[in-house]
Amino acid sequence: MAFQEILNKQKAFFRTQGTKDIDFRKQQLQKLKTIITDQQQLLCAAIYQDFGKSEFDTFTTEIAFVLKDIDYYLKQLSNLAKPQKVSTNLFNQPGNSKIYPDPLGNTLVIGAWNYPYQLSLSPMICAMAAGNTVILKPSELSAASAAAMASIINQHFPAEYLFVALGGVAETTELLALKYDKIFFTGSPQVGKIVYAAAAQHLTPVTLELGGKSPAIVCASADIAVAAKRIVWGKFLNAGQTCVAPDYILVEDQCKEILLQQLKKYILQFQYAVANNNYTQIINERNLNRVAALIDKDKIYHGGLVDKAARTIAPTILHNVCWTDAVMQEEIFGPVLPVLSFSNYNDALYQVLDHEKPLAAYLFSNNDDEKSAFTSILSFGGGCINDVIMHLGNEQLPFGGVGNSGMGHYHGKFGFDAFVHPKSVLDRATWGEPNIKYPPYTAQKLKWIKRLM
Ligand code: NAD
Repeated sequence: MAFQEILNKQKAFFRTQGTKDIDFRKQQLQKLKTIITDQQQLLCAAIYQDFGKSEFDTFTTEIAFVLKDIDYYLKQLSNLAKPQKVSTNLFNQPGNSKIYPDPLGNTLVIGAWNYPYQLSLSPMICAMAAGNTVILKPSELSAASAAAMASIINQHFPAEYLFVALGGVAETTELLALKYDKIFFTGSPQVGKIVYAAAAQHLTPVTLELGGKSPAIVCASADIAVAAKRIVWGKFLNAGQTCVAPDYILVEDQCKEILLQQLKKYILQFQYAVANNNYTQIINERNLNRVAALIDKDKIYHGGLVDKAARTIAPTILHNVCWTDAVMQEEIFGPVLPVLSFSNYNDALYQVLDHEKPLAAYLFSNNDDEKSAFTSILSFGGGCINDVIMHLGNEQLPFGGVGNSGMGHYHGKFGFDAFVHPKSVLDRATWGEPNIKYPPYTAQKLKWIKRLM
């Protein structure tokens, strides 16, 4: 079926008002939960085929994440979808005012490959909870995972409600030419601009979940062992192919050596290897070559081994790195961790500020002044103090970028809000209305209006 034909069916289905019913939404979410739970083995096998991600990683960072999202909406949906009563001002009395969370309609979700299930299914779940239809386009780079999603969703849900479209740039371009009520995109800032331009043709609202270079700043006041342990975990999770992974470290001069030693210690302790189920392949040869080319052999502190046959790059730390090095010119998106140092904390913050606004930023410090300067001076999507990545695990926190790292948010209530329009309705009584707003306008009426306003 052509994409336009599927979208036409979804438009017709949305017009029946069927997706707006709260029970319908809950039944569909429950159904999806059952299918994902039942098909876990198939989903894990597909992602393993794509880039060797272990069952442990797939369960913790993909399946459990998505199931948690469904549970959240099953529990909160009645409350989130309820019209919200707000106060009514004097001019509009007698009357009452409500905000209706109005489903936007027909939506397009475009996912990235690095967490193929989480980044495709989580936005789709938000759209379903908010009462929309969805065409989902997973990334073609994680082809087996995309095919697994297409097979389970297209088999169990009617195309007029949910449809997984497969394909690459040509198919995405075709999909982007159509008119939706919302486009939710996860991917690179470069492709984000293409999506934004296509959406502008129809004035379609967008959420753009993009990337960037996310710093981890380590101060001398920090617990250095804890900083090293958490940074190593967050950086080498998924072999560095995580949008909120710490891209690089900025460490205070006086603790640079001890931090480097501790980073190496934890890399060794975690025994990264595909055979240990804690290390993932690089998604394809092109990315392997791109990341390998960022490793300056003269600056390797630890690691540096590139295995083309196995499509892996060993956890690598670069030291004595400066801002002009190749590794600092683009988002690394791989297991290479450059370490830069600073002598003045404020200068370090302004160095970050001189670059594009990152998706995440992390500070390791036990000093309140440093913490407050970090949160007030830097602009970034979200982040942590004394940890990395874990802010994504709290559904009370909105997840999204700012500036070059994206626009709009999701997770929890924010995911629901991303797919509804807050429709305002004033319901007026037909009695008790003073005549002053109606013509003919007199000096006396103006006097009263001025007094009332
Ligand atoms: P990408 O931008 O290359 O691809 C994302 C999607 O866009 C894919 O579905 C792909 O098919 C489609 N696409 C690619 N080129 C296109 C084109 N010319 N026209 C239309 N569609 C096109 O990104 P990626 O390689 O899948 O992911 C890596 C990037 O995504 C990194 O920058 C990373 O930081 C970012 N990312 C962000 C998040 C987030 O939640 N903010 C999550 C994961 C990844």
